[in-house]
Amino acid sequence: MSAPITQDVLTVPRKLSGSLPNLVGMTRDQMRAALITAGTPEKQAKMRVGQVWQWVYHWGVRDFEAMTNLAKDYRTLLATNFTLEVPQVVTRQTSIDGTRKYLVRIDGGHEVEVVYIPEEDRGTLCISSQVGCTLTCSFCHTGTQKLVRNLTAAEIVGQVMLARDDLGEWPIPGAPRVETRLISNIVLMGMGEPLYNFDNVRDAMHVVMDNEGIALGRRRITLSTSGVVPEIARTATEIGCLLAVSFHATTDEVRDQLVPINKKWNIETLLNELRAYPGLSNSERITFEYVMLQGVNDTKEDAYRLVELLRGIPAKVNLIPFNEWPGAPYKRSSGNRIHVFADIIYNAGYASPIRTPRGEDIMAACGQLKSATEKVRKSARVN
Ligand code: SAH
Ligand code: SF4
Repeated sequence: MSAPITQDVLTVPRKLSGSLPNLVGMTRDQMRAALITAGTPEKQAKMRVGQVWQWVYHWGVRDFEAMTNLAKDYRTLLATNFTLEVPQVVTRQTSIDGTRKYLVRIDGGHEVEVVYIPEEDRGTLCISSQVGCTLTCSFCHTGTQKLVRNLTAAEIVGQVMLARDDLGEWPIPGAPRVETRLISNIVLMGMGEPLYNFDNVRDAMHVVMDNEGIALGRRRITLSTSGVVPEIARTATEIGCLLAVSFHATTDEVRDQLVPINKKWNIETLLNELRAYPGLSNSERITFEYVMLQGVNDTKEDAYRLVELLRGIPAKVNLIPFNEWPGAPYKRSSGNRIHVFADIIYNAGYASPIRTPRGEDIMAACGQLKSATEKVRKSARVN
């Protein structure tokens, strides 16, 4: 018997929105400056950053009082000047396949979704970069929700921290090091377009990659963009993580419909940018995401055209069976179509894995995310 789907509604204490600065999400330099402003002598500031950093990002401690290698006075100084806050989990749903979807609340009462996808020997956390999205890709549920705001670096790092809280992944003092990580990979494939919130995404990923904390290697992080051409190169030069591009079509006519940003930066412009991508190599290929929509972009001709377009770019193609959502104007291509498509790409020399939809029963699969509050508001309008 498979496990039941569960949904836990957690009691969220109403936050007395403090005006104190939040140390979570600050880069080391920002934290150093903040500690000095609060009265830390300059000479000690670097060491203090190191200590606080280790408590927060290595041990997962968010109570200044528990930072026992700091003098009592210094703990008090921290507690009176700063907070350590991550978004609050409102609900956690667990799919029949073990996928967990968290609905989390951030300042202003907004909500975003975070998805944890466990696999046999690894686990991927899919995080959001914006509430809603300015773009309106026609197959994407998030795209039907207007952009509400960018997430702060704290809210982005905080998604990783709250998932580690829930999974019990912070190390236990004295216990042997656990080699297999529950969260071994992060994908910026949740709600929003990460390249339209570049600075916060970059700072957050630097915190997550820092060796004395969560220490996730840069090649374990993948940023997915719909194709914001002027910002793409910065992914390599300023973050250093892997890049995925939501490609989805092989002609401008179809891509204009599916990914409207194509009207601004068309296929040729995008591909030229990707050919010049600073991080490109055979070991660091670009992932081309391609959603399989019945009768729209899934013919053999599309597959052959795609192969031609990719020529000269170290690439792999990730085929994503379309995930339906209420009111979606598309259907998923048949399994047979998807396999024929995948074989053509594979025979041309490109890896072409088909992404297994995960967490569909809890609407946690790619492109199904949308803030619950927004859903409620919408249905209230209809009634
Ligand atoms: N905004 C970024 C990242 C978030 S979307 C981007 O567009 O790349 C993450 C991936 O899910 C993208 O490739 C997106 O095209 C895909 N996606 C969106 N809606 C989907 C759906 N309904 N079914 C399958 N994949 C979808
Ligand atoms: Fe935004 Fe990405 Fe969805 Fe397009 S696919 S609407 S860019 S989240």
